[in-house]
Amino acid sequence: MQLTDPLSSHFRLQEDQKKALARLNLKTIRDLLYYFPVRYTNVSEIKLIRDLVAGDSATIYGRISKLKTRKAFKTKMPMGEAEIDDSSGTISVIWFNQAYMAKMVHEGDNVELSGKVSEGKHGLFLSNPELKEKNVLPIDTHGSLFGKDSGEVFGFPIYRETRGITSRFIYHAIQKIIKTGIIKTAPEYIPLEILKKYNLPTLGTALVWMHSPMTENDATAARKRFSFEEVFFIQLARKIERENYLENKSFPVAVDTNDIDDFIGRFPFKHTEAQTKAINTMLTDMQKPHPMARLLEGDVGSGKTAVAATLSYAVIKNRPPKSPPLNPLLGKEGRQSYGNLQVAYMAPTEILATQHFENFIQYFKHTGISVGLITGSGCRKFPTKVASAKEPWTTISRAQLLKWVANGEIPILIGTHALIQKSVVFKHLALAIIDEQHRFGTMQRKKLVTKEGFAPHLLSMTATPIPRTLALTIYGDLDLSILDQMPAGRKPIITEIVLPAHREKTYDFIRTEMAQGRQLYVICPRIDEPDPEKEGAVQARSVTAEAAHLRKIFPQYSVGILHSKMTPAKKDEVMEAFSNHSIDILCATSVVEVGVNVPNATLIIIEGAERFGLAQLHQLRGRVIRSNHQAYCYLFPQSTGDTALKRLKALGQAKNGFELSELDLALRGAGELGGTKQWGITDLGMEAIKNIKMVEAARTEATAIVQKDPSLTDYPEMKTLVDLKKLDTHFE
Ligand code: ADP
Ligand code: MG
Repeated sequence: MQLTDPLSSHFRLQEDQKKALARLNLKTIRDLLYYFPVRYTNVSEIKLIRDLVAGDSATIYGRISKLKTRKAFKTKMPMGEAEIDDSSGTISVIWFNQAYMAKMVHEGDNVELSGKVSEGKHGLFLSNPELKEKNVLPIDTHGSLFGKDSGEVFGFPIYRETRGITSRFIYHAIQKIIKTGIIKTAPEYIPLEILKKYNLPTLGTALVWMHSPMTENDATAARKRFSFEEVFFIQLARKIERENYLENKSFPVAVDTNDIDDFIGRFPFKHTEAQTKAINTMLTDMQKPHPMARLLEGDVGSGKTAVAATLSYAVIKNRPPKSPPLNPLLGKEGRQSYGNLQVAYMAPTEILATQHFENFIQYFKHTGISVGLITGSGCRKFPTKVASAKEPWTTISRAQLLKWVANGEIPILIGTHALIQKSVVFKHLALAIIDEQHRFGTMQRKKLVTKEGFAPHLLSMTATPIPRTLALTIYGDLDLSILDQMPAGRKPIITEIVLPAHREKTYDFIRTEMAQGRQLYVICPRIDEPDPEKEGAVQARSVTAEAAHLRKIFPQYSVGILHSKMTPAKKDEVMEAFSNHSIDILCATSVVEVGVNVPNATLIIIEGAERFGLAQLHQLRGRVIRSNHQAYCYLFPQSTGDTALKRLKALGQAKNGFELSELDLALRGAGELGGTKQWGITDLGMEAIKNIKMVEAARTEATAIVQKDPSLTDYPEMKTLVDLKKLDTHFE
């Protein structure tokens, strides 16, 4: 057996098992060893059915069957009944007055039940047991898994299951692999000094402890090692990316302070101190001969676009070194910028790209400098001889636009991903601005480097507030600037938690606001009804069902729908309709999160608010911060438990998104933070993110290694893994 062997060469797999393994992305022996338990079950809590006596409080694992509901003979009380079998014996289960319990499980489910053993006419039964877990690892009391070995382990690993694969299958497969002794051949890839320094187990030990811990401490130590490892490798990969990028040449940007002050002075507002500071920092960065790599973090509405515009202006006033003098034959307009350094500004959607284009026209119209727009649906150029008040730009062909970008006649190009296609060639691209993208990967950056080895200065911008530990990890390749200040005069959003009894009153208030012409967002946690995965549980409101509901509540207004399963073109169409007010109410999932700007929408309802993270709620709320009218955010929680409400209350109190993201991290379990989906970090890795000491340790070590040996020549195993990590993270 080799770590790289495919699982199918050592295990006889059925078709559905093969599919399940593929779904979990488990291909090799190594993959399976790295499929870690989600938790452990403490053996000492478990009782075998054959050992139960009346009066016991017991936790039982077993397979459930004979599910039924009925009414009690005399009292007509609704009851749920079942039988549970753990292969040592069988016992009846009765849920008095809780008939629905029998509907929360299915015939044949493996469950963990916890309750009191009672004695009735027909013998022992479990009375109103609590359903602790569904689809848990069934405990095989006769096999090697339990029974005689049970004294040797602290707990049984429970693995996440999927259709076709049980936790039990995974357990046995992993135990079989461990028994071959192959783990001993797995080379340690983290330098031993580092492991010693932080008291972390070596790879072999950690793998065994992870899958068969003898004590709780073993399990904890193993988890610690692998969560450290995850953030360590991400940071290492990022630091190396950074080093590589900084090795490129860049176009130094000379700064004419008076000229820039003049540009800034023309904005219809005064820059905030935070904006000024960020601008100055980046102007200093861009004077250096190697490229800037910086992240600008700022809450929604903090004014990142103005920062981007000012930096763009500074850049395009420069000419590349040793460039020929301007062609005197060019017209006035062309002479302003022809052949100068160029800027690319990339937005995640067409609507946003178009909004930036329109803003830039306002900021640049006095300069005569050309600005281009490229999206999937066409190209535009400003200025134009055929301008109208409504459309100061003109539509041009893609070919024409590309020609003008390639010869340097258009110095500022704004667009969607269309901007980094192969066919888009810049003459002297000196600054790339990337708006609201979680990561701009290595491959994408490489595309921007010219044949001559010039790389643009890189400015990533994000409104997604994340905790410091997470920023240090996923943005380890970037320097950080923060806009921690809102423009003066913004009215804070009035945020209210609305309990079910006050729903109608809130709708009434919203009606009066809408009568004055305001628009409303309604955010739902899900797209469709019902979610079959969550059968039996209380279902979150869905966009489709809620839209129908809203049409009844607000019959005089038109309701539009927006969610991620719609095509980009359809999404744009709906947003456009909301933007020009042909739709009054937009019922959406959290896809509206990304910086769309509809100043007239001043009302937002968030259904099932407790299901969202605080930072995410804050961002959703940011949708209504854009105008001079007072904005309102209504949180409609579905569950009104104390913890849910306490968390939501924080939203009214916290100063900014960063504070909320820290709070989220502290209040929620690692598994609830959505690390995998958003950042490509596993739940285990998120455990490290919750631990500032661990993240800083990983950062210190990663930095030291990269400084000493940036190409990891002395660490071949580590290099292989870092390369894998780089590939992993090209997800956006
Ligand atoms: P974001 O950081 O979310 O991208 P924008 O750049 O879209 O924010 O700015 C939000 C709004 O605030 C815009 O209408 C912009 O014109 C305005 N704005 C930006 N900076 C200032 C400022 N210093 N003072 C007043 N308004 C500002
Ligand atoms: Mg923005």
